[in-house]
Formats: sequence, C-alpha cells, structure tokens
Amino acid sequence: METVSLKSLPPEFFDEDDSDNVCFLCNKPKYRLVYDVKHFEFPFSFKECQCGLVKQTPMPNEKFFEWFFNSGAFFNAEETDNSEIWGYYDYFADESSRLSTSTWRYKKLKKYFEEKGSANVMKIGPATGTMLHVAKQKGHKVRGCDVSSRFAEYARSNYNVEIDNGRFEQMPYEDNQFDINLLFNVIENVPNQAEFLTAINRTMKTGGYFISNFVDMKNNLVEKFQKSHYFIYRPPICYTYTMEVYEEILKKYGFEIVEIQRDMRHMHLEKISTLLRWKWLLNLSKAIKVSRINFPLYAYPSRIVIARKIKNVV
Ligand SMILES: [Zn+2]
Repeated sequence: METVSLKSLPPEFFDEDDSDNVCFLCNKPKYRLVYDVKHFEFPFSFKECQCGLVKQTPMPNEKFFEWFFNSGAFFNAEETDNSEIWGYYDYFADESSRLSTSTWRYKKLKKYFEEKGSANVMKIGPATGTMLHVAKQKGHKVRGCDVSSRFAEYARSNYNVEIDNGRFEQMPYEDNQFDINLLFNVIENVPNQAEFLTAINRTMKTGGYFISNFVDMKNNLVEKFQKSHYFIYRPPICYTYTMEVYEEILKKYGFEIVEIQRDMRHMHLEKISTLLRWKWLLNLSKAIKVSRINFPLYAYPSRIVIARKIKNVV
C-alpha cells in the first residue's frame, strides 16, 4: 500500500454504489450539493439528503480506510513531504493531550459507569487506549477494537489494555455482551453506518449505554467561517450531522438519548493550527515554543451523547 500517492487517490478507494441513490437513514434519497471539494487532487462532493443527513459522495470504502489509518499521512505529517497536513502532525506525541481528555471525559461520565458496577466496556477506535486505561483503573473490564494494528501494540505495552484488530462489525463479539460502548471521534468516519450501528446494538445489553460524540453542524460557526475548507469536508469524514439527525439515527438503531453533554478536549496549538490549516500559526507557535502546551477547549463544537439501548433491532 506504500505506493499510493497522496497526489492521486485511486478510484477503487471509493464506493461508487453508495452515492446519490442511497440514504441509509430515510430510504428516500433526495440530495442537494453542499460543497464540491478537491483534496490532494482528488475531487469529491458533500451532499445533504432531504432528511438532513449530509454525506460524502462517492463514499470512501474499506480499501481507503485500511490505507489511510495505517499511512504516514495520518500518523505523522513529517514522514511525508507534503506541505499540507491531513491527519495528525505527530500522533504519538499527542499522548498527554489524550490522557487529559480521557480523564476529563471519565469524570463527566462517571455516574453511567458506576451504575453498571464493574462494567463490560467496549471502545471502538480507542486509538492508543487512554480512555480504556482510565476506565480499567476504576475497576471496569475493558476491551478495544481498532482497524489499526499500530494502536494495539501501543495500548498493550503502555497500558496493558487489549485492543482487537479489525472492523467492529466483522468481529465475533457475542450478543448482549457490553454494558457500555464508547465511540469518540469515530462515527463520522464510518462509511457503512447501518451495518456498524446494527452491530453496536446487537453486542450491547438492553439498558446499556452507548456513549458517542459527533460534531454538531447546526449553527456551527467554524463551518460558517471556513466553509469548504472546514476539516469536516474531506476524507476520512463520511457523514456529518445535526442533533436532530443524530437523534433519528439513534432511534432507528434502538437507542434513546438520556443526556447530551458539551464535549471538551485538551489540545495544543500544533493540533489546532493543523485542523484549521493555519500554517502561520503552527510556525509562529513553534517559534515561540508554545505549540505543545495543552489547554482545554470546547472543540469543533462537539457533543457527547449518552443513549440507552431500549430494544434489539435484529
Ligand atoms: Zn435521507
């Protein structure tokens, strides 16, 4: 896969069938164009269905994600000679930010964990495993599932946390296995939402908590300001949502919302300037040596949604 050039993403990285004639949410697809974007020379569009759901068309497929989440473009911009940064400037160097974010999130979600006693916790896309590490220290039984094998090695050796390697919906987890399923900064990147959410429903106990976050696009000032340059409008983002749309999706897959929280993330200027594509800020903050100082930020704006499984959908 190393031969893939960022300058020209191959067409076989995209699912031509999942385009304007499909909507997994309303089954009555009727789209209007939101933005035509050209990213790393590859043209694609974001379109909004009449039901409010926005998606990328054509949709990136498994091949794309297998390549992307194991590529230098995602992990470390310094490894590539590209002047644009796509994923992370240096993923593994951001560990202290992630640990602070996970500690803060656990505190905010504590009552849901404690209600389940020694809970069976799954986190899909756990990255380096910081949140699982925090939950494990509180006495919960934790397990992760990630498409990248680089994370699994890191989590095992640094936190003694097990992460299965593969796509969640293809893993042989049992029915009604998990009390809590955590999904942070993942849902937007899932092309096959129906299959994915069905698998989450199947593997969760009724009454269990599905805790996820998403970027709310309603009255989103960053989106209004950056328009098509907003980092949301490029792969690996497959879908964007408003709160109303997200609630409809949860309902469709057997969940009811019990609480919505503001999401906070610990970040530094290197990450922020990367997301906003402000190279001047990156260079300036590095020059005056403040680029890696962490501070909490109501980022994106992102919301944490706590939803309870109320029924099986399969
Ligand atoms: Zn629709």
